[in-house]
Amino acid sequence: MSRLLYQGVDGVADLSESIRPCASACHPERSSAISSHRIDSDKLREECGVVAVHGHPGAAREVYLGLYALQHRGQESAGIASADGQRLANIKGMGLVSEIFTDDVLAKLPGSMAIGHTRYSTTGDSALLNAQPIRVDSTKGLIAIAHNGNLVNLGNIRARLERDGAYFQTTSDSEIIVQLIAHSKAGTVVDAIADSLSQVEGAFSIVMMTRDRIFAARDPRGFRPLSIGRIKNPEGPDTIVFASETCAFDLLRAEYLRDVLPGELVMVTEDGLTSRQYSTGVEQTSCIFEHVYFARPDSRIFGRWVQESRDQMGRQLARESGVPADVVVPVPDSGVTAALGYAEQAALPFRMGLIRNHYVGRTFIEPEQRVRDFGVRLKLNPVHNLLEGKRVMLIDDSIIRGTTSRKIVRMVRGAGAKEVHLRISCPPTISPCFYGVDTPSKRDLIAANKSVEEIRQFIEADSLAYLSLEGLLKSCETTEKTGYCTACYTGNYPTQWVDVDEILPAAVSL
Ligand code: SF4
Repeated sequence: MSRLLYQGVDGVADLSESIRPCASACHPERSSAISSHRIDSDKLREECGVVAVHGHPGAAREVYLGLYALQHRGQESAGIASADGQRLANIKGMGLVSEIFTDDVLAKLPGSMAIGHTRYSTTGDSALLNAQPIRVDSTKGLIAIAHNGNLVNLGNIRARLERDGAYFQTTSDSEIIVQLIAHSKAGTVVDAIADSLSQVEGAFSIVMMTRDRIFAARDPRGFRPLSIGRIKNPEGPDTIVFASETCAFDLLRAEYLRDVLPGELVMVTEDGLTSRQYSTGVEQTSCIFEHVYFARPDSRIFGRWVQESRDQMGRQLARESGVPADVVVPVPDSGVTAALGYAEQAALPFRMGLIRNHYVGRTFIEPEQRVRDFGVRLKLNPVHNLLEGKRVMLIDDSIIRGTTSRKIVRMVRGAGAKEVHLRISCPPTISPCFYGVDTPSKRDLIAANKSVEEIRQFIEADSLAYLSLEGLLKSCETTEKTGYCTACYTGNYPTQWVDVDEILPAAVSL
């Protein structure tokens, strides 16, 4: 059952909810999401994808298409806000982009400007309120914000703002940026935004909208991607587009112009695009895990095609830790590109020996452990004739708790494989992320608490190896010498603010 939250929409009372029976009938597994469990519980999750469009008569529909292409960055909620120079309407709901935004709903979002957001979050009512864009009626006028990332120095900022009279609608840290703008002493909105962004620390790639302009910004370290594109219009000004990943531009037939730079604030008005650096001199630390897992291989992020990086990771893995094998098999879908690189480098056949069922819902009913274990088999199935009697080289992109990897190794062996070797296209994940990726705390990360040999024994593989940190950095090298965050592999965080409790290993918690 999909519920929608309206703000500023003509003919609909604010904060009203609309129940659309079709959504639950078509997707029964989502109708009971609160009591159900995630099938992908052993994968890290990105928290968001953002899109903005300026100067298009059907801006909300364009944003919808962009969000559709970014659905992999968050599947729990989505929202679109649009503006026509006078009004700023916002609609958001729980579910997939295509479930929330039917033709009827999109028709309620007029105007030539729009921003959108798709999010991974926990389920429940608070999640709907915290879904984005967040729309705030501030002293600087109506502002809507959509944010990808996570702020880390919230400390007493929220308390200070509340003392100054701020009334928070949500518990989302993204709203803090809007409240800082509202309470800024700067004279113009753009100065207030720059002032607000320079007060927060952490990861933020944001798009914002007032009644008549759009803003886009990245944090000074450039943790999360954000690119600028253009749809050429022979009869008038070009449409300017922003998106977390360039794969969204392809669907919109927009050409890629460039990335929003770390520490850059871009403003788009009727007069065109202007930019300022609100922060300089900070070392870039873009999230390397975007290249490993999150971003789509058909996207170009941080100055490099993701496909190229993953291909190189696979090749480097083969060079670093190749062993005799008969066939290279990816754990689909995210392991596919690295497996192709590995197979080519090792001159071994590449086979889709595991088939993923794309029609399984993200969650399923029944909280019992017995049923959770069943989840991997619901999602993946071995191709027996490709695996039987073979020495199988499995390629995956991460081991988080280890339980899913063990089930996959068992599944491949159960299908008749003679040997099962596992290669991971990044170093061991030993520390949680505080920059917008949903990671378990250190005590739940298997690599933080066991050696590689102990993990190999746990997952029951014949051999296990990870890509070295040097190998990963080499695989993602760009001509612009992009600096990367590798904190989940090293424990060296580029910012000072981290949650100490989250980084305690299992031994300390006993
Ligand atoms: Fe990315 Fe890991 Fe850094 Fe988080 S800690 S930003 S997942 S590299």
